[in-house]
Amino acid sequence: MTTIIEARNVTKLFGNGRLRSGGGTVGVADVSFTVDDEKPTITAVVGESGSGKTTLARLLLGLAAPTTGEVLYRGKDMRRLTRSERRRFLGDVQVVFQDPYDTYNPFYPVEHALQLTVRKFGLASSAAAARSLIDEAMSAVGLRPEATLGKRPHQLSGGQRQRLMVARALLLRPKLIVADEPVSMVDASMRASILTTIRGLHERYGISVVYITHDLTTAYQVSHQMMVLYKGDVVEAGDVESVIRDPQHPYTRLLIDSVPKPDPDEPWALERPSEKAARVTPTTCPFVDRCSRAMDACSQAKPPLFRTSSTRAVACFLYEDAHRLDRSELNTVLTGAR
Ligand code: SF4
Repeated sequence: MTTIIEARNVTKLFGNGRLRSGGGTVGVADVSFTVDDEKPTITAVVGESGSGKTTLARLLLGLAAPTTGEVLYRGKDMRRLTRSERRRFLGDVQVVFQDPYDTYNPFYPVEHALQLTVRKFGLASSAAAARSLIDEAMSAVGLRPEATLGKRPHQLSGGQRQRLMVARALLLRPKLIVADEPVSMVDASMRASILTTIRGLHERYGISVVYITHDLTTAYQVSHQMMVLYKGDVVEAGDVESVIRDPQHPYTRLLIDSVPKPDPDEPWALERPSEKAARVTPTTCPFVDRCSRAMDACSQAKPPLFRTSSTRAVACFLYEDAHRLDRSELNTVLTGAR
């Protein structure tokens, strides 16, 4: 197995960082996750604001360092990469952010962002070769070069700007694209087509995708497997079909019940998912204050992960009869989901 990125028991604390005393704010808590070169997959990381999903993305991208644990790129701690390894990492791992507008220089035509990438990574030996590469990448994401090149950022729609950012990422033929809420600022009518494009790139080029989102509907549409985060903890993980159709963790159920349904006879859940910051006491279930099924045990210890099937794991005492899974083994469940 060739591992591109591996997060090993990664915890990220903010503030004073005293997790044991309950004083720190948790970004992510003891998360393990692997992106395998030979088995490209699309993994949705789902949760509300403050769940830790963007912190996890930043850790995978090397934009933040873990407080404990480590993030490895091709087996080497990201903090110890040489200049050439770092350069290879920047080619292998690309990011698509929520707001593409910030990536563009308003004084240049939109292709400037792509030309910079071609130049910086020496992808073409001539202007004609560069243009050919850019045209190919644009076509792959559904943009017509002749209708797009030469325009300023404000002359494109949000969806077109985001597609162009996906094209820029594609120029490098990455192994992994981390897409952080890539369609949350795009018109609803464009969301599905951009996500279909990303899924198409996965299928055509074998690119893995980590799809960070608060939106269960799009996560279901685009991904193969899913991790649900709550206050920095993975509370449920597994193949997307069974997580969505048969959620096991009470928080996942709440998320799914909160998705608006077009049926007027079926009301939304009365309780909305919390968007509070992830301040957590590490000796209880992070969901205990809001869980309708809480038991005494839930206030006395943090639930471990229980393996409820070959492709599912849930951090909840309701499933304590199932096989207990070390958090570092989470990947064995996700691997089974592919
Ligand atoms: Fe609810 Fe207890 Fe399960 Fe936490 S461990 S989700 S409080 S039942």
